[in-house]
Amino acid sequence: MPQVPPIDVDGFDLERELERRRRQTERRDLEQSRENLAYSYGNRHERFTAPNPALPPNAIANLAAMRPSSVIPLEEFDAGYDSGTWDAPSRNGEGRYRVNLDTGADSLVCACRGFRTHNHCWHTINVARYIAMRRQAVALERRIQELNEDEEVSGQCAG
Ligand SMILES: [Zn+2]
Repeated sequence: MPQVPPIDVDGFDLERELERRRRQTERRDLEQSRENLAYSYGNRHERFTAPNPALPPNAIANLAAMRPSSVIPLEEFDAGYDSGTWDAPSRNGEGRYRVNLDTGADSLVCACRGFRTHNHCWHTINVARYIAMRRQAVALERRIQELNEDEEVSGQCAG
C-alpha cells in the first residue's frame, strides 16, 4: 500500500483528527450499549448470542440465543456469577432449581424435569442470557478502556 503523507495545513493533521473522531464515536456507541445492557436483558425478545449448531443445545451460546417465555430479574443471578451455581426460582414461585455452569464445555445443566427432557429450560435460558450479558459488559468495558488509553496517549503526544 502506498504511503500517503497526512494532509497538514498549518499544523492541522486531518488524519489524526478523523481518527480521534472515529474513536470518540465508537466510545459513545459502546457507552450507550453498556447502558442499554440491563434493558436488553429485561426484553425477552433480545437475543444475546447467535446460535451455534456445532455446539450442544445446552451451550451458553445456544441457550442465550433463545427467547425465554418471561425474564427472571437479573438480581436473582448476581450472587451466583462467581461460583457458576445458581438457584433459579421456579415459575410458580415455589422452590428453586439448581443451575450449574460447566466451565470446560461452557454449558449449563439444570435440575428441573424440563431440562432433562429438552436439554434446555426456562431457568437455563435465563441464566445463559444473564451470563452472556455479563460477558458483553466485560467486553464493552475493555474496549472503552482501550479507547480511553489511546486518547490519553494521543493527548500526551499533542501536549
Ligand atoms: Zn430448569
